[in-house]
Amino acid sequence: MTLINSARLHLPDFAPGSVWLVGAGPGDPGLLSALALHALDHADSVIYDALVDRRILDLARPGATLEYAGKRGGRPSPSQPDISARLIRLARDGHRVLRLKGGDPCVFGRGGEEALALAAARVPFRIVPGITAGIGGLAYAGIPVTHRDIASAVTFVTGHERGGAVPEGVDWRAIALGSPVIVLYMALSHLDHIAARLIAAGRSPSEPVAIISKATTAAQSVVVASLEDAAARAAAARIEAPTIIVIGEVVRLRATLNWLTAGETEASG
Ligand code: SAH
Repeated sequence: MTLINSARLHLPDFAPGSVWLVGAGPGDPGLLSALALHALDHADSVIYDALVDRRILDLARPGATLEYAGKRGGRPSPSQPDISARLIRLARDGHRVLRLKGGDPCVFGRGGEEALALAAARVPFRIVPGITAGIGGLAYAGIPVTHRDIASAVTFVTGHERGGAVPEGVDWRAIALGSPVIVLYMALSHLDHIAARLIAAGRSPSEPVAIISKATTAAQSVVVASLEDAAARAAAARIEAPTIIVIGEVVRLRATLNWLTAGETEASG
């Protein structure tokens, strides 16, 4: 039995020899798009990343081959050129290749790099957007990404660059001054450093921050703190990766809008 009725939804054919770069969303299978379900129904090969939820992989067509392309048990992950070469190989062998990534494939997900490699190899591909952690994770924490009057701009920024350092290419001062809401990906280990830079550039030390761990999964947890103590509070709570971090006055709305765990008491605020 298939997951969805693709004819009623007028979905395109997943042609043999093509690659679909699909966002699986942050975790909750309910956040998959119709195109993602259609791809899971028809893929011959599924090449997935570390952040793709197990419950989503379980939706793949029973005959599909699942291949993991990420870090595991401390072993180095396959290099990006290796992954792209693998996608091209499978497509040339006539497979319907589903490249499944957490969140959105093109938000800090290297979807663009893989698409460029496919384009260069003249392998037909499609990009299926997914719900990125910086939007879906906030929604599941009861935090609107933007809000009229208090937040008319938002910046998605990575807290981690290729080598693992705080990204020097990021103009933290400009972000501090120009973006009322800042959503940080891959930033937990550099949060103290990033917060100090934002405060030095004029953000209030008491501005609220939410650190959302394992967003949209059954293990989601949220720590709310202030900019100056967020890193220490996250460490004290032993919060686990992956985490999405949001800085801004919108975080205060969680007190009223936390629909997911409404009624539960929260040790950390
Ligand atoms: N393409 C993904 C992001 C990949 S970068 C997306 O659009 O969401 C990996 C980072 O994404 C993690 O370090 C974390 O900051 C964030 N992330 C992804 N899934 C998450 C989840 N379920 N909960 C919290 N953060 C998540």
